[in-house]
Amino acid sequence: MTTYDFVICGGGIIGLSVARELVLRGHKNILIFEKEPELGKHASGRNSGVLHAGIYYDPGTLKARMCFEGNRLMHDYCQERTLPLFESGKVIVARDESELPTLEELERRATANGATVHMIDERQLAEVEPNAKTVGKALHSPLTTVVDPKAVLESLREELQDAGVKFQFETTFLSAGDGFVITDQGDIGHGLFINAAGAHSDKVAHAFGMGRKYMLIPFKGIYKTLKRPAADMIKGSIYPVPNIKNPFLGVHFTRSVYGDVYLGPTAIPAFGRENYGIFRGIDSEFLSILFRDAQMFFANSKFRGVALEEPRKYIAKYFFEDARKLVKALNPTDIESSPKAGIRPQLVNVATKELVMDFTIERGRTSLHVLNSISPAFTSSMSFARMLVDEYMDI
Ligand SMILES: Cc1cc2nc3c(=O)[nH]c(=O)nc-3n(C[C@H](O)[C@H](O)[C@H](O)COP(=O)(O)OP(=O)(O)OC[C@H]3O[C@@H](n4cnc5c(N)ncnc54)[C@H](O)[C@@H]3O)c2cc1C
Repeated sequence: MTTYDFVICGGGIIGLSVARELVLRGHKNILIFEKEPELGKHASGRNSGVLHAGIYYDPGTLKARMCFEGNRLMHDYCQERTLPLFESGKVIVARDESELPTLEELERRATANGATVHMIDERQLAEVEPNAKTVGKALHSPLTTVVDPKAVLESLREELQDAGVKFQFETTFLSAGDGFVITDQGDIGHGLFINAAGAHSDKVAHAFGMGRKYMLIPFKGIYKTLKRPAADMIKGSIYPVPNIKNPFLGVHFTRSVYGDVYLGPTAIPAFGRENYGIFRGIDSEFLSILFRDAQMFFANSKFRGVALEEPRKYIAKYFFEDARKLVKALNPTDIESSPKAGIRPQLVNVATKELVMDFTIERGRTSLHVLNSISPAFTSSMSFARMLVDEYMDI
């Protein structure tokens, strides 16, 4: 059995960023093992690629602490390595007057978090984003940026391999021993084991007797794209005022680094942790996920709201109606389906049935577990990795 000082389970943005931070601090004996044959098969390769600017998050939370700095670190990383980067900016628009108090709350949160935002009127909005529609005012975030998530993963992989970090693909975590883990490719010894298994991180933590009070439930994000010339009328990103009591931001327009304009993602309760298609990715866990969703449906009004609202967006008419509220001009024929889909694993407290809103970390004797790497974890990853090393590793 080979033993490493640090064994990281999961080659998503969290696993790679933690490995990079360890390398930057002089550590070398690191293994990342990943169940897929390549990087980017799950959340880190399937997201919107938006570097959020730190607007939404309650001051004092880890998200608020990590997002602003993470945005800057990832932005600089992409610039230094000449990776695709589009300084798109973003506007958050109000669909009716009742959303204005939340818009003001977002401005307050953003300012408290150190983010740069400007409350603008309809005339100014027309200058920034001519096709965006709002009621009275909108929030403009000039520092929201878009990257190519897969290009970031690939660049990190190259950098880490050059620094001597070992990668082992097609290797699935099965269970935990004392100072070693059991995988389908054999046992691996570790000093510190770091669980960065994304949508499976609760199961990995449970194998160590950690994270017992949590489980993850999957939400599916489907996207559509805009055809030209409608796509040419979207300059950057247009987001609605979200319901800040739940962790999802609502269907929005995002112009990618390559100029395509995406609409989405939805947040539809999914029937598998990798249920990217209608039936694809549904496995033996289907019944227990259905049972958990049913429990949540009856116990949690926020979940119930999402579960009743979001699945309608499978129907083109409802998806269109949602998008139409954010812009002045859009026709149903401007929208076409897209194969892009992602799963957002959301942590739930089993006892209270509450959705956990912040990143969650648990440290065991020889293991560290990242349990709720929800958005904006891609944006925050490099800052998050710094914090993990500083505050959770005795090195
Ligand atoms: C649709 C969508 C849109 C999003 N948009 C944004 C955005 O615009 N901006 C932003 O900041 N964030 C966004 N996010 C969130 C962001 O993508 C995630 O927070 C982030 O990618 C999580 O990274 P991760 O490394 O924890 O998880 P993952 O990327 O899922 O990586 C975990 C890895 O662990 C591996 N793994 C799992 N189980 C095992 C096992 N048993 N053994 C071995 N390996 C295992 C998986 O194969 C996977 O590669 C979005 C997410 C989604 C789904």
